[in-house]
Amino acid sequence: MVYPDTQLFVGGRWRDAADGRSMPIRNPATGQEIGRVARAGRADLDRAIEAAQLGFETWRDYMPAQRSKVMRAAAVLVRERADAIAGVLTQEQGKPLTEAKGEALAAADILEWFAEEGFRVYGRLVPHRSNTAIRQMVLKDPVGPVAAFTPWNFPINQIVRKIGAGLAAGCSMIVKAPEETPASPAALIRAFQDAGLPEGVLGLVFGDPADISDYLIASPVIRKITFTGSTPVGKLLAGMAGQHMKRVSMELGGHAPVIVCEDADVALAVKSAGAAKFRNAGQVCISPTRFLVHDSLKQDFEGRLAELARGIKVGDGLAEGTQMGPLANPRRLAAMAEFQRDAVERGATVLTGGARIGDTGNFWQPTVLTNVPLEARLFNDEPFGPVAGVRSFSRLEEAISEANRLSYGLAGYAFTTSLANADLLTRRVEVGMLWVNTPAAGTAELPFGGIKDSGYGTEGGPEALEAYLNTRAVVIANA
Ligand code: NAD
Repeated sequence: MVYPDTQLFVGGRWRDAADGRSMPIRNPATGQEIGRVARAGRADLDRAIEAAQLGFETWRDYMPAQRSKVMRAAAVLVRERADAIAGVLTQEQGKPLTEAKGEALAAADILEWFAEEGFRVYGRLVPHRSNTAIRQMVLKDPVGPVAAFTPWNFPINQIVRKIGAGLAAGCSMIVKAPEETPASPAALIRAFQDAGLPEGVLGLVFGDPADISDYLIASPVIRKITFTGSTPVGKLLAGMAGQHMKRVSMELGGHAPVIVCEDADVALAVKSAGAAKFRNAGQVCISPTRFLVHDSLKQDFEGRLAELARGIKVGDGLAEGTQMGPLANPRRLAAMAEFQRDAVERGATVLTGGARIGDTGNFWQPTVLTNVPLEARLFNDEPFGPVAGVRSFSRLEEAISEANRLSYGLAGYAFTTSLANADLLTRRVEVGMLWVNTPAAGTAELPFGGIKDSGYGTEGGPEALEAYLNTRAVVIANA
């Protein structure tokens, strides 16, 4: 299957880096180099910044209907090209083709939703206190050129949530996409180019993440920073943005609790939370990680979860029937080995998995550990891999306090047939998104984001556009 080299997209043109530098891309299923990506230097970034300013000056004056038309056309192209995009995505990221195609199709849906929502950016007219000849207006304007930093776990969708909202609001954007998975983001941006997006409205760069974020965040042209990735990097970038007084949205890590109450439907809990756990090999910010199960159901629950894990077909994402691919990079493989060693050393029991598969590619067995001590790294740091940890509880309040113990507050899951329990969980579990008796579905119309150390801002619903808008007051007296 063909895998293209990736260039930078600056000022409406695909280009190599000015100094000709590039980096290798490896297929995580084979470890083989499959292509290269251009590595931007300062000259490229200067050009991208200049183009983003010019692109903003054009795009901010497009009417919502014109913006919507371009965005819808891009969505149609992404949908038409979903098979080709999926092939590229699987080769660079590892997820099974069906998941990769699902990501491309979901991207088209998200773009269409934002293309519509852009029509609903309204200001207000506020009556003056005493003078009918004075018009008091509240205006909503795009914040300006935005720098967006996105990770490798959902190479397309992490970008689409940002550019969907940003473009609908009238911003231009420079996307610093993941160096390890560059070709599927490039395919997404190409759809916008082919849909007639004006020059400079979107830029795409790759390179050294720290150099690029330093440079873009400090630039006076860039008015807002949006980042998806780990909490430590998010805190670093938010600090830098603060120094330069830039608007910020942060979609950071999570450590999702799954609370299985005494009255839960165990089969439903295992099926939906289990499937969510191993999707994209657990490399999902809302992946269930801490399974907290009532004493009376623990043995049944963990037995069934281990059986589900053992039944997962692991392999190259391009192969027919693969349900879980490799981890996206060797760093995650090393991290899984460390989580495993630490948990077992502290007394956890391995129900299934717990080791690397073979010695080619980054494959890790779907793993279930039980009786994981609270001090284990698995119950404190985001595992970001196919590892589930189980513990029991006797009173629901205990489970809620364990769910809230960590500084993360992104996603949570609960299973219960009691309305009273569902109500208590709704009020007390400190997360940005809670799913009760149902798998997670991150649709464009619902808020998507965390609280506490999981970040701020949301990447869904009308609030997502608000993050790309300035609110201004203008008062005009009829002279
Ligand atoms: P990492 O913390 O080094 O990088 C995370 C992301 O941030 C990457 O895309 C990287 O390119 C980017 N990044 C790193 N330093 C940066 C900087 N100074 N400026 C701008 N961008 C920067 O970790 P990693 O090994 O790539 O990923 C592992 C961890 O990242 C996971 O354990 C998980 O916590 C987190 N992560 C979260 C998400 C998410 O969806 N929230 C996605 C991917 C990774």
